[in-house]
Amino acid sequence: MAEPPVPRPRFHDLVTADGTPYHRIARMPEAGLVTSTVVQTCVRYAEPDRCRFCAIEEPLREPDGTLPVKRPAQLAEAVRAAVRLDGADRVSLTTGTGAGPDRGARYLARCVRAIRAAIGPAVPIQVTCEPPADLAALGLLREAGTTAIGMNVETLDDRLRRRWLPGKARVPLAQYEAAWEHGVRVFGRDHVSTCLLVGLGERPADLIEGARRLVARGVHPFVVPLRPIPGTLAHRDGLTEPPPARVAMITEAVDALLAAHGLAGGAGMPRRAAAVG
Ligand code: SF4
Repeated sequence: MAEPPVPRPRFHDLVTADGTPYHRIARMPEAGLVTSTVVQTCVRYAEPDRCRFCAIEEPLREPDGTLPVKRPAQLAEAVRAAVRLDGADRVSLTTGTGAGPDRGARYLARCVRAIRAAIGPAVPIQVTCEPPADLAALGLLREAGTTAIGMNVETLDDRLRRRWLPGKARVPLAQYEAAWEHGVRVFGRDHVSTCLLVGLGERPADLIEGARRLVARGVHPFVVPLRPIPGTLAHRDGLTEPPPARVAMITEAVDALLAAHGLAGGAGMPRRAAAVG
């Protein structure tokens, strides 16, 4: 059943001290959750590198749409207003990938630090980015006040990675594994997540086995069906969503693994993964 539409949040009626409307800085896609893509561009967006399910830069074509870069002070103002006026009780930030070895994590840390100073310690803040080659960036995120982190691999099958996410596929899986492991040390078990997409041509048994290995190391996998939304290369290619029965079967198997290992989603963990970063 479709979820009821979320009413326009009250914080969207305001503007920052520098005159920027809050709706260009942050969104509220579901009750209580405030989100922002802090950098709306990605070094991998030009073809042929772009992930085929990604449309991160498309909103920049809309007049009065989201800002390409949200400054820390702007985010702090908008999120504080969302907490005060709309009862936001969790924050989720993501970013397109940057060119540096931190892949955008250090700028995320600056944004988190500013938001944390504005809203205090109680509201969890989750971030999503590519695994930084510079693992120290994970510590910086934690020190800034980040509660949980997503580093989305999409698929653990290198053949599918090269086909669906050619740019990201140049980051070896070993680097994801190192970042997940370090992330669990820094943020704690069940505070590090990754998404596994269904609909790329994967074998369900392989996906479930990969999820089992992730769960065993304290990483929380989210099963996400491929959604070829307008603006993505997958949509342009006429691809469709995977059959619901297949998604349900895989989700059920991964949920059983999560339950068996007591991973219910730590503080700040999203209810679903964002397919960015
Ligand atoms: S999914 Fe991430 S890495 Fe891939 S194109 Fe989009 S923003 Fe860039």
